[in-house]
Amino acid sequence: MADDRHRPDAGVTGPELVDARDLAGEPDGFQRLWTPHRMAYIGGENKPVDAAAGPGCPFCRIPTQDDEQGLVVARGQRAYVVMNLYPYNPGHVLVCPYRHVPDYTDLTDDELAEVGSLTQTAMRVLRAVMSPSGFNLGMNQGDVAGAGIAAHLHQHVVPRWDGDSNFLPVVGRSRALPELLADTRARLAAAWPQPSTTGR
Ligand SMILES: [Zn+2]
Repeated sequence: MADDRHRPDAGVTGPELVDARDLAGEPDGFQRLWTPHRMAYIGGENKPVDAAAGPGCPFCRIPTQDDEQGLVVARGQRAYVVMNLYPYNPGHVLVCPYRHVPDYTDLTDDELAEVGSLTQTAMRVLRAVMSPSGFNLGMNQGDVAGAGIAAHLHQHVVPRWDGDSNFLPVVGRSRALPELLADTRARLAAAWPQPSTTGR
């Protein structure tokens, strides 16, 4: 990664250059307006090359990284919580089983229980930290249903605020995000109950 001199934040202490292939999320065609003056550069896309488990799958690879690097908010026994690299709103997290399975019906009872309890905890933590007015919860099952990474199940937890659907997504194909993902991750991780109350 050769020459940083032309980055707007060159010489400023801030987030390191991030390769999107190491992070979690599904490219959706929206541009993001990152409003803080500090800017994390996110290069490349995050699409797996195929449906296989392992390092080619972001949701398999992320748990092998440290929390800051992978934007991991919390780790359970059978599932984990991570910031979505392509958020619909600030605080948009994904709850993923560690196991590389595509379909909700593939989950074992234990995995199902932990995905559920991590989703509950994520809602509680997001309420405590960001005071949303509501949530959208859900899973896209299959490419046809809009899953960007259909091979590895992930549950979206999207905080909602009154008036958060403004003209920007429609007109500009852009979403304004007032906080860097790394900062949001740190706030949510700090508020996450310790030790983990899930998966036991
Ligand atoms: Zn996977």
